[in-house]
Amino acid sequence: MDANALPTPRRRSKRVQSTSKQSTNDDSSDNIVTPDIVQSNKRHKHMKGSTTKDTTSIKVEVVKSAIVKNAKMKVKRPSPAESYYVTAALSKLHPEIVDRNDERRKKAHQSCGSQDTITDSIMHTMLSQNTTDANKDRAWASLKRKFPTWDQVESCENLDEIESAIKVAGLAKTRAQRMQNILRQVKQERGEASLEYIRDFDDDKVKKELSRFKGLGPKTISCVLLFSLGRNEFPVDTHVLRITQKMGWISSGTNREQAYEYLNDNIPNEIKMDLHCLLVRHGKVCHKCAANGRPQFPPEDGSQLDCPLLKVSSWKGSVPGAFVVHLAKAYGDNTSSSAVAIKSEIVPDLPKSK
Ligand SMILES: [Zn+2]
Repeated sequence: MDANALPTPRRRSKRVQSTSKQSTNDDSSDNIVTPDIVQSNKRHKHMKGSTTKDTTSIKVEVVKSAIVKNAKMKVKRPSPAESYYVTAALSKLHPEIVDRNDERRKKAHQSCGSQDTITDSIMHTMLSQNTTDANKDRAWASLKRKFPTWDQVESCENLDEIESAIKVAGLAKTRAQRMQNILRQVKQERGEASLEYIRDFDDDKVKKELSRFKGLGPKTISCVLLFSLGRNEFPVDTHVLRITQKMGWISSGTNREQAYEYLNDNIPNEIKMDLHCLLVRHGKVCHKCAANGRPQFPPEDGSQLDCPLLKVSSWKGSVPGAFVVHLAKAYGDNTSSSAVAIKSEIVPDLPKSK
């Protein structure tokens, strides 16, 4: 009710509850592994040999206490296990997204930093708001053709020229004005029409610096942090908001800014980029997860995807044990290679969602 209240992840909307009703013949209730139990088992391993108690009784005690604890305590959602599950399941469905991110990661390692990627990224993201990908791409190509450098945009005397270059993206007058204003302000303050200087700032300083500019909201800034600066960020757009609400990770009244603050704190860092990109993609192609059941890019053959997310809300933060084992194997402790490890072949036997 209170729009300012923190998201309460366990409260689900009526619509979500009715979806989970369809799957109450949940065959996994006695085979469920919650993050606490996984933790307890790990603790048990360390205790081995270092105590006088017989290990079987310790194991029983530990598991029992974990079960009691879990019965009393609500699992904080999204739990790491379900975050990994969703990333793995969607990677299997949309492998091209993780491939593209692998390319991004490779490039980031190879980049010599000579390119002005940050200004590009900020201007590109400004063009992408409230328009389709196709129109954003057209507007970007046209802008770069007419103004190959940001200095040219900054010094352009006739705003109409910038406006006409990006016309196809819509809201051209406002966008042109805002883009030029940012470049002019930066040039005045730092002598150069470039935002490259934020590269060495820490996350909070980047957020503070960029939010001074009109037109740069929290989502744009979060995208810049994630894609241009390689920081651990989880931007929340309309698709991410809708699907995480549907899965019961955040309550139905949560707005985008609140969802960002909450999810950015609770999604494991190593999967933030993949999970963000996968949810955006999935929201555009899946009939079950698209807005109003009408995906922007449905499968061309007229079929519908077999959505792996339908049961997630009914799991309430726990994930059937078999998946946890697979996910733990896929990720292990080597989080740096997680993106590669999570590829579809390592995630067999995903649940049927019918
Ligand atoms: Zn779906």
